[in-house]
Amino acid sequence: MKGYAGKLLRVNLSNGKVSKEEISDSMKRDFMGGRGFAIKLLWDEVKRVDPLSEKNKIIFSTGPLSGQLLPSSGKMVIASKSPLTGGYGDGNIGTMASVYLKKAGYDVVVVEGKSERPCYLSIEDENVKIVDASDLWGKNTFEAQDILEKKHGRNSGILLIGPSGENLIRISTVMSQKGRAGGRPGMGAVMGSKKLKALVIKGTGNVSNFDDNKLRELGKKGYEEIKGKESYDFWMRQGTMQAFDWCNENACLPTYNFKEGVFEFSKEMDGHVLEKLNIGRKGCPMCSMQCGHIIKDSSGQGAELDYENVGMLGPNIGLGSLPQVALLNRLADEWGLDTISLGSCIGFLMEASEKGLIKEKVRWGDFETAQKLVTEIGRGEGLAKIVAGGVRGASETIGKGSHRWAMHVKGLEISAYNCHACPGMALSFGTSPIGASHKDAWIIAWEISTDRFSYGKEKVEKLIEFQRLRGGFFESATVCRLPWVEVGFGLDRYPEYLEAITGSRMTWEDLYEMGDRIYALIRAYWKREIPQFGRKWDYPPDRWFEEPHSGGKMKGVKVDREKYEQMLSWYYELRGWDQNGIPLKETLDRLGLKDVSKEIMGQVG
Ligand code: SF4
Repeated sequence: MKGYAGKLLRVNLSNGKVSKEEISDSMKRDFMGGRGFAIKLLWDEVKRVDPLSEKNKIIFSTGPLSGQLLPSSGKMVIASKSPLTGGYGDGNIGTMASVYLKKAGYDVVVVEGKSERPCYLSIEDENVKIVDASDLWGKNTFEAQDILEKKHGRNSGILLIGPSGENLIRISTVMSQKGRAGGRPGMGAVMGSKKLKALVIKGTGNVSNFDDNKLRELGKKGYEEIKGKESYDFWMRQGTMQAFDWCNENACLPTYNFKEGVFEFSKEMDGHVLEKLNIGRKGCPMCSMQCGHIIKDSSGQGAELDYENVGMLGPNIGLGSLPQVALLNRLADEWGLDTISLGSCIGFLMEASEKGLIKEKVRWGDFETAQKLVTEIGRGEGLAKIVAGGVRGASETIGKGSHRWAMHVKGLEISAYNCHACPGMALSFGTSPIGASHKDAWIIAWEISTDRFSYGKEKVEKLIEFQRLRGGFFESATVCRLPWVEVGFGLDRYPEYLEAITGSRMTWEDLYEMGDRIYALIRAYWKREIPQFGRKWDYPPDRWFEEPHSGGKMKGVKVDREKYEQMLSWYYELRGWDQNGIPLKETLDRLGLKDVSKEIMGQVG
């Protein structure tokens, strides 16, 4: 099939073996790329292993749209069995590594085994080497990026971890280009466990597409369409930070560890403040709507911001200064810590301190202490040891009912939307296939603009449609969803792109079915890896059901548990899963996953 480099590169760090394998047409047709390839490989090859052992594998996977001359296509997916959740984990990242990987002749890299000494992987077309990285070990991601760029040239795609990944901190992510991050559920710790500091990728070839002229024409039109959109100018001024004001107005800003939805200092740090402080922009390759906004942080250095990190390192920990949030964010990027999980962990410690559950004083909005905590969490030292395994692990350590306000689903910290008054978004977090990520179904804007307080079946149907699009198609194609989400770029362009790239015309029905196959396989993976996995994994924390907002326009509102149960039951029914959330045999068979149904049949509850 056209549009793919056609090869999987496999590197075993235990024995140094490097091999190249053909990717079959059926794999491309049934799983497309990105997340689809990742779950298929993990299902086939990574079975009931300790995520931080040498038996786990880490997958770097592109899709047919990755790196093409198309809007916002410079993405790849990084996936592994997650050390944070124990189930399937992945994240997408915008990086030149995605573009160069395909140019080097590979769609996917699978790294397995474990090196004895720190190393990095150098991929230059046919030349693949495991290189000693003793001099890089311990360096932060900015320093290591500079060293590797100096050595390999700026025309390299670099993926790397910081000291937190080396220290096996389970909320560590993978970084690229000093600000791009991906792999929230501990992908950085998986690299650290393999003593793999980085991948440096260079490529000089070109992927052969079905109709390059057509693709060029479509790509040019796509960029023009995005620029002509009404909301484009506002997006360029505020990017994802336009959500800050909106969330505050709609009482869904994560505030004081998700207790409240409105922050008293919001006007001092919203998108308009960002506009005034902005000194530049950064983003992913191939993107004409770059969303990383740079301001001077409180130490005077440039630091990048977007909504998620401002929400979680600002209101969620009671901090109302954008330059101070920017400094925390920069530190997190240097250490290689996921900013969403980090904000949740700091918020958890602040609340634990307020409730007298820990002896240390960690006050809301205390910038100095928060700064110290970032470093301690990166090192896994001191008070921060409690949260080294995320807030789920912290609540297990502290006990005393703290699980009720440990803000996670399946072990992954909730991203920056408080859902006391958004039941559809609560269900979205509850059913996301990696834990509480907004990536799969950001239904909140639709929900608030329609019937916000409905728990109706139509909301569940919409949620599944969003998951099929966002978590199925965009994550597997692999291309950024934000042109569609944020400026209304036409969804119909994507089947046209796929046709010009691969030569096959796929309808949205075909693409949705592929998304369903990927979701069912991910679900089966959770069940196989965690035999007791089932319905109770699909709930947000008790806080949203039990503690209504104490103020703001949603004062007194919380999620209705009984009605949530009904929505969850409809969700399973619509997906063709049983009421314990496990795909039925007939569903797996229909999706071409017969062997999978055989393997988990004995476990179906
Ligand atoms: S919109 Fe943002 S996340 Fe998406 S490709 Fe562009 S810079 Fe990257």
